[in-house]
Amino acid sequence: MATVDSLKSLLVEQVKDLYDAEKRLTKAIPKLAKASANEELISALQEHLGETQNQVARLEQVFELLEERPKAKPCEAMKGLIAEGDEHAKEDYEYDDLRDAMIIGSAQRVEHYEIAGYGTAIAHARLLELDDVVRLLEETLAEEKAADEKLTEIAESVVNIEAAAGDEEEEETEAATPRRGRQAASGSRTTAADRGRQTARASGGSRRSRR
Ligand code: FE
Ligand code: ZN
Ligand code: FE
Ligand code: FE
Repeated sequence: MATVDSLKSLLVEQVKDLYDAEKRLTKAIPKLAKASANEELISALQEHLGETQNQVARLEQVFELLEERPKAKPCEAMKGLIAEGDEHAKEDYEYDDLRDAMIIGSAQRVEHYEIAGYGTAIAHARLLELDDVVRLLEETLAEEKAADEKLTEIAESVVNIEAAAGDEEEEETEAATPRRGRQAASGSRTTAADRGRQTARASGGSRRSRR
């Protein structure tokens, strides 16, 4: 790799990193949406997928303004965030709500990483007085922040606390214990988890059969 000899080349390096990150996300977001159960979460992820595709195009405009060929430089951090997200989504959850809550957490880690990356690139572009570059990167930054806020909103509604906690009169919060725990505790009588599941159904909560 060429020596980074100026703030301009430092900016180019960052844009290559962001370009790789965004391109990866155009493949990763659909996977997260597919693993999600909550309709609001699915549509938020799909909406952000569309924005992400625009963000890739916006970075291509940035390359043009910087008189550089669009080139992605593997973003190891985004690779890692995506790998962790996939891994968590594949785990076994008693309730879809719990998986959704985990997916939101993974997605928010991604948004925060992007917000940090764009924030630094914008600061450098501003120092270089590259106003058009600043404007393009700021458009994306605003989308990342809005996506993060939307996810926070959904996070507050996605987990049906009552269902996840079971019927508190009966057995405290056993319903939130892992399936292994539930099996160990299941005798002839109904377990708290079963009751929690009924509550989940009755209140519209979704529980997907074991995958
Ligand atoms: Fe993005
Ligand atoms: Zn990176
Ligand atoms: Fe980690
Ligand atoms: Fe994003």
